[in-house]
Amino acid sequence: MKQAALVCLLLLVVFGVQPANAAAWRSRVWPETPEGITKPHADVTEPDPDPDVPLALQGWIIVLDPGHGGSDPGAVNSRLDLQEKNINLAVAGFLKGMLQDLGANVKMTRTADEELSIAERRNYSNAQNAHRFLSLHVNSAGNTAAWGIETWVDTDANQIWKDYAQTLHNYTVAKAKTYESDTPDRKLRYSGFTPPWDGGKKIGVIRYDSINAPAALIEMGFISNDAEANRLARSDYQKLLAEGMAEGFVEHAKQYKKEDGVIKR
Ligand SMILES: [Zn+2]
Repeated sequence: MKQAALVCLLLLVVFGVQPANAAAWRSRVWPETPEGITKPHADVTEPDPDPDVPLALQGWIIVLDPGHGGSDPGAVNSRLDLQEKNINLAVAGFLKGMLQDLGANVKMTRTADEELSIAERRNYSNAQNAHRFLSLHVNSAGNTAAWGIETWVDTDANQIWKDYAQTLHNYTVAKAKTYESDTPDRKLRYSGFTPPWDGGKKIGVIRYDSINAPAALIEMGFISNDAEANRLARSDYQKLLAEGMAEGFVEHAKQYKKEDGVIKR
């Protein structure tokens, strides 16, 4: 009898405390970029792809642009000690690995905490002869209740640019909703047209008249909203957003060839 009670107690200790620990782990905040972002798939052994079947993004040159960096933190949440620049870089790191697995040649405007001008980011993409350009950002608002995902494209861009931005947006929002089903879809927005972006001023890094590759900018959520900021700081949510974007690239590549929409100047 005594022994049975001991076993019961032991079972309680072994299994009983696990949910509490798991809950604590889930709610943990990572203020810094989590480790392992340069090799997100290091622990996964994937089968070699069939050499006769081309990968979905074979030959595509994709430039990822993690916004801000160095002395420019981007948007911040001082309550949670979070900075936009770190979240942008972490998601870009995950996305890079996923796109490479799909056959893409992925370039990053920055791979560390360094400062770059807007023109340097565009010029880098043009110098790489990129087929697509994606800038990653996190939003902020005075209203701390605001949350959700929005994507920007130049209002003067051709339809391929707009389709590219819309497809990436749709898949990113869909993935985010698998994690938090209420995540607002804040829609595709048109830089140079959609208020309230500085009364119609264009977002420099995705300007149709300055960058050659179809360019989009995703605002992955609001750092000013504590609940969303906590999700954005978690590597599992960062990976999920990257997965959504990667799926968007695959869908876009079903509709268009890599050269489509690239401006020759
Ligand atoms: Zn930003």
